[in-house]
Amino acid sequence: MKIKIWGGRGSLPSPHTPQEIEGRIRDVLERFASESGDRTTDRTTVERFLEKLPREQFGGYGGNTSCIEVSTEQQRLIIDAGSGIRKLGYELLAGPLGKGQGAVDLLFTHFHWDHLIGLPFFVPLFIPGNTIRNYAVQPELKDIYPTIFKKPFFPVPVQSLGAKIETQIISPRVPKMFGDLEVTPYQLDHPDPCWGYKITHQGKTFSYCVDTEAKRVSADELGADLPLYQNVDLMIFDSQYTLSEAVEKVDWGHAAAPIGLDLAIREGIKKIVFVHHDPAASDQKITDGYHQTERYYSLQKKQYQNAGQVLGEVEWSYGFEGMEFVL
Ligand SMILES: [Zn+2]
Ligand SMILES: [Zn+2]
Repeated sequence: MKIKIWGGRGSLPSPHTPQEIEGRIRDVLERFASESGDRTTDRTTVERFLEKLPREQFGGYGGNTSCIEVSTEQQRLIIDAGSGIRKLGYELLAGPLGKGQGAVDLLFTHFHWDHLIGLPFFVPLFIPGNTIRNYAVQPELKDIYPTIFKKPFFPVPVQSLGAKIETQIISPRVPKMFGDLEVTPYQLDHPDPCWGYKITHQGKTFSYCVDTEAKRVSADELGADLPLYQNVDLMIFDSQYTLSEAVEKVDWGHAAAPIGLDLAIREGIKKIVFVHHDPAASDQKITDGYHQTERYYSLQKKQYQNAGQVLGEVEWSYGFEGMEFVL
């Protein structure tokens, strides 16, 4: 099973402004001049220099909204159609979907704009012969295409899309096979119903938990949704806010990294990756969140030590566009 984040930003695509990019390049060159000393600019020196740059000064975290690809040799699933799906669509054109001979399975967590906004730019939809199979727990799935692909919102009506559009409502908390991937939806905590997905393949499990405020954290509160966090090798989790912002923004539907980290420690999740970064957050602010989470994690370790307990190690990181994992 291969998992790739094709969009990790929340709420709205937020590419950098030219001023921000200029500021960043200036920062980088100044740093280079001060660190290189003799200002040697051969390729190796530059590459060596660039390799050392922290994420916020080089590539950043990306500005496309939620879209995740989960694939094995025989199956591909796409979760959510945020703006990240546009570039994934271009890549898929190299296969059967480019010739009008392909089919793809698209799962939706919910239908907020940041999870739909890329759909009209998903090119396989416009190629006759393709089949796009759509799945969600919410019955509103049936209305999504007729609503989006309609004037004056979009010039191509749903009847004129080249591909055949199929929709299927799936049952909550019931495993469903997609090829060799077993998928089970569990409910998250969001202002409109939103479903996370637990995906298992050959004994490895990936859990996708975006968008969620994670209001329910104890095993009792989570009840029937607790399995989403159990026996998980990799969890992608909502960290739109810092902990203090999350306290202020009650009912906004998003969490902070320490909340996910606590869940991961308690449930023995092996690795957790934080995404759905706030559209208002600069790359520097996201990295500041990373450092806050680092401090939180070492504090937790100390508290466990003081209580005479051993904290189960959790590998954690902040997600960025283009990040890939193999389970
Ligand atoms: Zn969202
Ligand atoms: Zn949402």
